Amino acid sequence: MSETARHPLQVKPPLLVKIAAPRGFCAGVDRAIEIVELSLHKYGAPVYVRHEIVHNKYVVDSLKEKGAVFVEELDEVPDGVPVVFSAHGVPKAVPHEAAERGLNYLDATCPLVSKVHRQAERQVEAGRHIIFIGHRGHPEVIGTFGQVAPGHMTLVETVDDVGTLQPDDESNLAFLTQTTLSVDDTAEIVVALRKRFPRIVGPKAEDICYATSNRQAAVKAMASSCDLVLVIGAPNSSNSLRLVEVAERHGTRSRLIQRAQEIELGWLDGVTTLGLTAGASAPEVLVREVIDLLSHRFDVIEETVRTVDERITFKLPRGLTEQADAA
Ligand code: SF4
Repeated sequence: MSETARHPLQVKPPLLVKIAAPRGFCAGVDRAIEIVELSLHKYGAPVYVRHEIVHNKYVVDSLKEKGAVFVEELDEVPDGVPVVFSAHGVPKAVPHEAAERGLNYLDATCPLVSKVHRQAERQVEAGRHIIFIGHRGHPEVIGTFGQVAPGHMTLVETVDDVGTLQPDDESNLAFLTQTTLSVDDTAEIVVALRKRFPRIVGPKAEDICYATSNRQAAVKAMASSCDLVLVIGAPNSSNSLRLVEVAERHGTRSRLIQRAQEIELGWLDGVTTLGLTAGASAPEVLVREVIDLLSHRFDVIEETVRTVDERITFKLPRGLTEQADAA
C-alpha cells in the first residue's frame, strides 16, 4: 500500500478493524514448524524438508534462514541428512523409499490428516471403494490417495462430479474428505452422495478439521458487518482460499494477501469496517504487520470477533520430545 503525503495536523479517518478469532496457526502447523526447528537443533543444518512444510512463504523463508532446505522430491535429498515430510501428508511410497535409502526421516503430517489416512486403509480393507472429496493436485489429496493401492479411490470436487460417478458396486462405497475444504460446499456434496448412493458410509462428521471449520465460522460471524475482508494466506493454501470464498458468499468483497504490502489503496475506498483473518498456515506477525500498515493511514480501532476458544495441541514425534521437554 503506497502512502500519500499527509499534513501533520490532518486527522486520520477512523477504520474499525474486526479481527477474527480463531485465526492463523493451527495445532498441526505449530507442530510441523516445531518439528523442523527441533530437527535443526538436534541434527544441525541442513535439514531437508519435502515440500513446503506449510503453505506460507514467510514461514518457509524463516526456516530457510535457519538452515532448512526445501525440495519437492526425495531424490533431491542427499544421503545422510535428515528429511522432514510436510504437514499435508505423503503417499506411503515416500517413507518407504526413505527407509530403503536409510534416510533419517521425520513425519510432520498433521495427526488429523493421518487419521484420514487410517480411515482410507480401513475402508479399503472392508472392501469398499472410496469417494474422496477434495481438490485435485493438492498435496494432501495426493498423500491420501497414496495410502491405498491405485483404483480404490475416486476424487470428486463438486456436486456435478457426483452425478458422473460410475462405481462398479454402489452398495460398497465410502466417502472421505480433505481436511481443509469449505464446510458448506462439502455438506452439499455429501448430501448429493447420500442421495445418489443411499448405502454409502462415511465418518460421523466429514473430516474437515477443527481449525478449518473454526476459521470459516469466525469469518461468517463478521463478514456481513464488514465492507471488505482481508485474508492473510498463500495462493496455494486451501484453507485460506476457502476463507475468501466464505466472506464473498456472505456478500462481502474479500482479498487474499500474503503480506501487508500487497494491500492496494483502492480496495479501501469507502471502507469504514474491515474484516481481517489469517489462514491456518499464516503467523500472527503478519496480522500485526497489516494493522501497523493500516495505522499509518487510518485511526485504527481493533475489535476481536471471537467465535470459539481453541485449546488443541498435538504431540511431537518421539525422539524430538525429550529435547523439547528439556528445553
Ligand atoms: Fe491439521 Fe487442520 Fe491445521 Fe491442516 S489445517 S494442519 S488438518 S489442524
